[in-house]
Amino acid sequence: MTGPVLQVRNLRVEYATPSGPAQAVEDVSFDLAQGEFLAIVGESGCGKSTLLFAVAQLLTYPGSLAGGSVLFDGVDFTSLSPEELRQHRWRDISVVMQSAMNALNPTLTIAAQLADACRAHTDWNDERIEQRSAEVLSMVAIDPVHLKSYPFQLSGGMRQRAMIAMALLLEPKLVIMDEPTSALDVVAQRSLMHQVETLRRQLGFAVIFVTHDMSVVSHYSDRLAVMYAGEVVELGPTREVFDHPEHPYSRGLMEAFPSLLGERRQLTGIAGNPPSLVNPPVGCLFADRCAHANDECRTVRPELITYGEHQVRCHLVARSKQP
Ligand code: SF4
Repeated sequence: MTGPVLQVRNLRVEYATPSGPAQAVEDVSFDLAQGEFLAIVGESGCGKSTLLFAVAQLLTYPGSLAGGSVLFDGVDFTSLSPEELRQHRWRDISVVMQSAMNALNPTLTIAAQLADACRAHTDWNDERIEQRSAEVLSMVAIDPVHLKSYPFQLSGGMRQRAMIAMALLLEPKLVIMDEPTSALDVVAQRSLMHQVETLRRQLGFAVIFVTHDMSVVSHYSDRLAVMYAGEVVELGPTREVFDHPEHPYSRGLMEAFPSLLGERRQLTGIAGNPPSLVNPPVGCLFADRCAHANDECRTVRPELITYGEHQVRCHLVARSKQP
């Protein structure tokens, strides 16, 4: 039995704003096993992409780490220098950004961009670089003939797959993906997810996948974390969270998207807006939008409670689980 590849502990991220620091990520902890697929979902601005950037140590001003640790194979990334981090990027952790068109350099061929990454992180010769570049493109079902293509000559789905090929160049143990399917149509989304899943099973890397669209990850992720206002409010095996969401916010999210297989039902949104992250309320951050909120909810911040493989941050759920 091997230990977790990643241990995130009490991670906090703040954004500097004219009105004071905004808590973008608050006290987030989780482990990730080797080869595991963890999906992180929540509405825009809930902190999910910021959390990914903090894990990969890619935060830039106005964002900054306000506390906590990110242990990768036992090494605390938060204590490493930029040069030490460079040794781990691509080899141990790689990141696939949201929009391939913005992440890829439009003036360079795919071959040149793959070669740049190889030269920055390895001492491979040109022949080895060319061979590996063709190999990773084939892995994501792109004909190596496209090594000579510029990004604008590829479809949206192919560009995103080229980004994944680049992320896999040095066989990392963890691939972090920030909404890689958001700019794709439904057919390209499904094909990309299928590709990621096949590669994960073949190569054994772990995945952290951020999305606002739960239907994208429902069939692929092992565990699902639901974030709200910078906090993880629910975390558990994907099927369990989908079939029996416990937190009122998770239940609201599930009711806001259609099921392809279940009965037809009226979709409902979650009324109201998230709280200010500069002056957050003292109690539950979801209280203003929650139909079950009571005095305790408005005055005491709920802790994340664990039962079995499931974690939930809610007074109501905590009481229902008491023996
Ligand atoms: Fe709703 Fe209270 Fe639970 Fe917050 S703690 S989600 S307000 S019931």
